[in-house]
Amino acid sequence: MGVLPDSIDYVLLDEPAIARRVAALAAQISADYRGIRNEDFTLVGVLKGSFIFLADLARRLEVPHRVDFIALSSYAEKAEATGSVRLIMDTRADMAGRHILIVEDILDTGYTLDYLQRLFMARQPASLKSCVLLSKPERRRVDVKVDYLGFEIPDVWVVGYGLDFADRFRTLPYIAALKPRVYRK
Ligand code: 5GP
Ligand code: MG
Repeated sequence: MGVLPDSIDYVLLDEPAIARRVAALAAQISADYRGIRNEDFTLVGVLKGSFIFLADLARRLEVPHRVDFIALSSYAEKAEATGSVRLIMDTRADMAGRHILIVEDILDTGYTLDYLQRLFMARQPASLKSCVLLSKPERRRVDVKVDYLGFEIPDVWVVGYGLDFADRFRTLPYIAALKPRVYRK
């Protein structure tokens, strides 16, 4: 792993641990959607945080699928207090009658996933499920349904494998905890 960047406290999940879990999630999803047609199954990645997770997961799926993306407002203190989520870029494809799987990096308060589930349900998909890599159960404010979960983690700010802090550390190959002095201002 070499020398850790100065702002990194410790590595929570290393590359092999992530790869094993992503492979297991892909196997489970492939089994659950067996026999599906490409045009009927869409993975919707939530930008930017999920792009690496989605790339790894999608390449391990053994069922045909499409890939689409949606971008939401980045994490803000105001969002945490009010649960307000802002839509930056919508998906391209029509969801009606299709099986949709939301692919999200991390579940914190739950407001983001709750917003997405409401938004997508209104578009009348054939089914709507969610696959989330990380969850901080202690932080939950709203009860949301997660169908496939990678790991439960403690209440620390994590970066790497798609996750950032102020647009830094996003492409670290592992998931690490940031030193509290970096994110607690
Ligand atoms: P929620 O709406 O569940 O509170 O927050 C979900 C979003 O907050 C995630 O999609 C992510 O963008 C951001 N987030 C929450 N915790 C972390 C974290 O530890 N690290 C990073 N990089 N983003 C986080
Ligand atoms: Mg996110």
